[in-house]
Amino acid sequence: MKRIGAHVSAAGGVENAPLNAQRIGATAFALFTKNQRQWRARPLTAASIEAFKQNLATVGIEPRNVLPHDSYLINLGHPDPDALEKSRNAFEDELARCAQLGLPLLNFHPGSHLRLISEAQSLDLVAASINRALERSEGVTAVIENTAGQGSNLGYRFEHLAHIIERVDDKSRVGVCIDTCHAFTAGYDLRTAELCTATFAEFDRLVGFEYLRGMHLNDSKPDLGDRVDRHESLGKGKIGWEAFRYIMNDDRFDEIPLILETIDDSIWAEEIQQLYALIDAA
Ligand SMILES: [Zn+2]
Ligand SMILES: [Zn+2]
Repeated sequence: MKRIGAHVSAAGGVENAPLNAQRIGATAFALFTKNQRQWRARPLTAASIEAFKQNLATVGIEPRNVLPHDSYLINLGHPDPDALEKSRNAFEDELARCAQLGLPLLNFHPGSHLRLISEAQSLDLVAASINRALERSEGVTAVIENTAGQGSNLGYRFEHLAHIIERVDDKSRVGVCIDTCHAFTAGYDLRTAELCTATFAEFDRLVGFEYLRGMHLNDSKPDLGDRVDRHESLGKGKIGWEAFRYIMNDDRFDEIPLILETIDDSIWAEEIQQLYALIDAA
């Protein structure tokens, strides 16, 4: 089965996120467990944790179909030791928050070399950061997202994801999330079924579908290979519907969270229905 949702608001408390997901007919969702633009966050209260678990059970969404996203400030490949330490501590706090909520995944962008060290050196730091975080936590998988490759951001090649995974000690607790907009603007074409087959074969060869823990379903404002991160509503960007029809009819994308981060949240419910409608009757 396909589990489709969106990155919903957790305003007023994480416990509101499952209810916001239910409101748009979602069977999966993403959320921030803290303000994504601030370093510090108040610890989750026992009441908030309890209400979150209760609401999740009520709406009937399984914890593995929830894909929390970490703060945009965190850079696990930071070239500066003090800044790296700050990022590692913040990431470990995010993992702990997921564990408290009973959620087995944490989605994050690998990091940036800031043009101060090489890509390989920065990717090595990311892997070391993940190793430390996994040693200090339990039960949560670190889910690396591919990126558009804007600026000095790492993760725009499947090789980058493979480089990190290769150096992670506990392979049972590392995974990946593929964002269709990021892949496309990074140069992986998805505009026809044939091109999707080729792109996902490349992904399987370099990374492996066994590591796929979630997808971000976004169309793209920028063109193929532009390396700019700007999402568009499904079918309204440069990718078009064929990529989403392909994903919806491929069982390698079953039972993982498929998350919309498209720009118009007023049509998320409609987009979810449109995605389900793409599934060919067997
Ligand atoms: Zn992301
Ligand atoms: Zn993006």
